[in-house]
Amino acid sequence: MKSGRRAFLSGLGVTSLAAALPQTKGTAQENPAALEAAPAPIGNGKMKLSFRPYELQLEHTFTVAGNSRKTTPVVLAEIQYEGLTGYGEASMPPYLGESQQSVMQFLSKVKLEQFKDPFLLDDILAYVDSVDEGNRAAKACVDIALHDLLGKLVDKPLHKLWGINPANTPMTSFTIGIDTPEMVKLKTKEAARFKVLKVKLGGGNDREMIEAVRSVTDVPIYVDVNQGWSDKHQALEMVHWLAEQGTEFVEQPLAKTAVDDLAWLTSKSPLPIIADEAFQRLGDVADFQGVYSGINIKLMKSTGLREAQKMITVARALDMSLMMGCMTETSCAVSAAAQLSPLVDWADLDGNLLITNDLYEGVKVIDGKLTLSDLPGIGIRKRNT
Ligand code: MG
Repeated sequence: MKSGRRAFLSGLGVTSLAAALPQTKGTAQENPAALEAAPAPIGNGKMKLSFRPYELQLEHTFTVAGNSRKTTPVVLAEIQYEGLTGYGEASMPPYLGESQQSVMQFLSKVKLEQFKDPFLLDDILAYVDSVDEGNRAAKACVDIALHDLLGKLVDKPLHKLWGINPANTPMTSFTIGIDTPEMVKLKTKEAARFKVLKVKLGGGNDREMIEAVRSVTDVPIYVDVNQGWSDKHQALEMVHWLAEQGTEFVEQPLAKTAVDDLAWLTSKSPLPIIADEAFQRLGDVADFQGVYSGINIKLMKSTGLREAQKMITVARALDMSLMMGCMTETSCAVSAAAQLSPLVDWADLDGNLLITNDLYEGVKVIDGKLTLSDLPGIGIRKRNT
């Protein structure tokens, strides 16, 4: 396998990496068997996709405008190739319309064996996208596993392959769901190690929520309304009040369909107005210029890392702000998103911190800041459980 990887890396022009791999004993002259075993051309192996359902247990019941839950269903995937394993994950909060069943049904139709070279991301991911419409989380699951595999094939973390400076990772916010003032105070105290909080509003007790947080801490606040407000004038008044409370931006304040009201609010707001539910994939970005100040990119909406990178480029060209978010996820999908986080203005990558049964370890939060591991690919390893 190692000699195959060496030939494979040399074929890519990654000679220093190829040289760094241990030498296989015996030349073809000394040992005719070595001729048969090597050199393996690129893609001699076959990619094999496997997957299974898993249920994430949330530490606290999580309430946002519109729903409340204690668990989140996910599907965990692996792509095996030449002795290496790439990990992927699809997370399905109920409001996105995907389920473990729909994801597994989709993944069972994905035939990666047909591709000889796992580095042909455009070909492979265009194929995955064409298998069926929608299924964004399922597609993200394949994209993440494939990126993890590629990083492992060249033994480098993705941020290094992409030329991204890991020192530029942002702080991550920690999310406080809608709750009673007493619980909000308790959760805020528990989140003392975070340097910024994301507070969910739109549950009818917005000022109480913020006042409860402010009675405990004066760290900056990101606000997410999850479409919970309906009147644009009241929304503007609230945004002004939130600005006085040390809020940095407001996410999805009005229904995603209220495009004219959102454009009005954005034009008058003292704070950036960020799109989340309104926004899914690359093709949506240009539509939001002038409607929102920025977008919240999540891998489960964007179909993964490949399209998320393109969205970052397009949004920057349109002078929009960028946020990187997540669903309730293990450290698998969160660490994947964190690889791109040095490119965005704000991060809310805390999904792995809200659960009690994470199967992986990867990105860490140190002094409130996302800290990438040196592990190859998306930068995770399985926990010893
Ligand atoms: Mg949101």
